[in-house]
Amino acid sequence: MLQISVVIPVFNEEESLSELTRWISRVMHDHGFSYEVILVNDGSSDNSWEQIQSLAEKINQIKGINFTRNYGKSAALDAGFNKASGEVVITMDADLQDSPDEIPGLYRMIKEGGFDIVSGWKKERHDPISKTIPSRFFNGVTRWISGIKLHDFNCGLKAYRLKVVKNIQIYGEMHRYIPLLAKWNGFGKIGEKVVQHQARKYGYSKFGIERFLNGFLDLISVSFVHRYKKKPMHFFGLLGSMSFMTGFLITCWLIFQKIYGLSKGLKVREIVDQPLFFLALVALIIGVQLFVTGFIAELMTSNQSKEAEYKIGEEINFDF
Ligand code: UDP
Ligand code: MG
Repeated sequence: MLQISVVIPVFNEEESLSELTRWISRVMHDHGFSYEVILVNDGSSDNSWEQIQSLAEKINQIKGINFTRNYGKSAALDAGFNKASGEVVITMDADLQDSPDEIPGLYRMIKEGGFDIVSGWKKERHDPISKTIPSRFFNGVTRWISGIKLHDFNCGLKAYRLKVVKNIQIYGEMHRYIPLLAKWNGFGKIGEKVVQHQARKYGYSKFGIERFLNGFLDLISVSFVHRYKKKPMHFFGLLGSMSFMTGFLITCWLIFQKIYGLSKGLKVREIVDQPLFFLALVALIIGVQLFVTGFIAELMTSNQSKEAEYKIGEEINFDF
């Protein structure tokens, strides 16, 4: 069994690839690790795939996966994780911002430190301020929601025990939340290691300012999906019952008022003349609708398919 699989998502990074893979191979040879490097080309429009092919021809340990189009970093990591076979799986960005020199340290923390995941922490960051300030805020909120004490959730440099990556599925833009997904799947030993960080050497960042809005929407949906995926009725049913009960109580009150007034010979208003009546009506209808939504969600989750949502066009150097 290989000791290390390095999984690298690649989107328009042709300039870095040969330097990066040479650096990785050097570190692996120096430490005598058996390894593979899985480069996942996420629909690059430059020559990244040609680069990967020619690197894979020269070095056996380099393997390539080519997506038919751009599916995003999460899909690229997922495809790499599916193929990885090393005892420890290390992810890193392709842009040379993460240093391959960290690999031995990360490997040791998993193998000897007993961690399921070790996440890099770019303590000293070389990124523009427009990225670092929102990122602090984002990390604070994620820490608070998840209860995982990491400083830098979105660091591309992370190490995993093999069974962790085989047991989580990442989609959408969930790559920011892999530690959460792992923790929820029972892999709670999560460590952190301060890592070197360089400024981007070539190319440009693939995530703009929208990363923060998307990041928060993903955080909401990832927490929601995690809590209610297997029991959507608990969510919709609760809201539905609350709404229905409100409507029901108002209706009772209206009827009681009417009967009481009539019996005492008081002057009573028509029920349909009262704003409360319409409120009750809306609450009852919404309540029923939420219930029905809950049932449909239950039906849908009961036969969810596990099909991957990306398409692979080509693979090189894999034996199976
Ligand atoms: N990436 C990818 N698909 C995408 C966007 C990015 O595979 O749609 C890869 C990219 O090639 C890089 C990593 O994800 O290896 C991180 O991207 P980037 O460096 O642009 O992010 P940043 O460092 O700005 O957070
Ligand atoms: Mg980068």
